[in-house]
Amino acid sequence: MSIYLGDENLGIGLMPIGKNALCKTPMISLFFNVKWRDYLQWNEEAFKKWKISAYQRWPYISNLLDKIESPKQLYLAKYRQHTLNKPCAQQLVFVGDAASCSSPQLGQGVNMSLIDAVILSQEINNHTQLASAIQAYVKQRRTHVTVYQILAKLLTPFYQSDSDLAIAARNWGYKILSRLPLMTRVTSYLLSGRLGDPLKHLKSNHNLN
Ligand SMILES: Cc1cc2nc3c(=O)[nH]c(=O)nc-3n(C[C@H](O)[C@H](O)[C@H](O)COP(=O)(O)OP(=O)(O)OC[C@H]3O[C@@H](n4cnc5c(N)ncnc54)[C@H](O)[C@@H]3O)c2cc1C
Repeated sequence: MSIYLGDENLGIGLMPIGKNALCKTPMISLFFNVKWRDYLQWNEEAFKKWKISAYQRWPYISNLLDKIESPKQLYLAKYRQHTLNKPCAQQLVFVGDAASCSSPQLGQGVNMSLIDAVILSQEINNHTQLASAIQAYVKQRRTHVTVYQILAKLLTPFYQSDSDLAIAARNWGYKILSRLPLMTRVTSYLLSGRLGDPLKHLKSNHNLN
């Protein structure tokens, strides 16, 4: 869930992140966008201004904002795109962000990681040798992940740019595309990580819908 804070362009959002070994209650991550050049000036004053805007525009999260008293409590997470050339060795394999990640414009990081895990477990079940299971997993994931990375890269300027033209093009583009008959279906496939049907082998093996 996220909103954009008007002229200041400080997008802010909440993401459920589950539990971990130290904390048994479900947790939530609060994040917001700061441009790199603005981050260099990110100090107490800028933080206070940001917090006032956030309270005003999104009072729903005031309980969470109350807990953030200093910019030192916040952690800088930089967006970047990477893909390991070789995401495996004989008995070692990388999944999720460790194998490949994108800027989060499509919101697909979690889907990609879960699909990685599902396909890896499927291939381990299908093979007697771990090394061949890993090879099969890598082969299955490469194209799908690459397509999503390209789409995320193409969309990034339309979300992160200061250009009014890029923002207008994005808004008009969505307006026009959303009227096309098949668009709702395509969008739901795209946003659920299912474009290209990455789980098709799983479906045929286990008869899932
Ligand atoms: C601000 C922000 C917003 C995002 N928004 C979205 C969104 O809306 N939708 C979406 O799908 N994705 C989003 N993402 C991306 C998404 O969070 C990641 O793609 C996803 O969490 C990757 O899952 P993962 O399991 O590969 O890695 P992670 O979720 O990073 O899990 C790795 C785990 O390994 C642990 N770890 C690290 N090192 C060690 C170690 N040495 N020993 C033991 N444990 C270790 C870490 O603590 C962590 O728990 C966002 C990311 C950011 C930063």
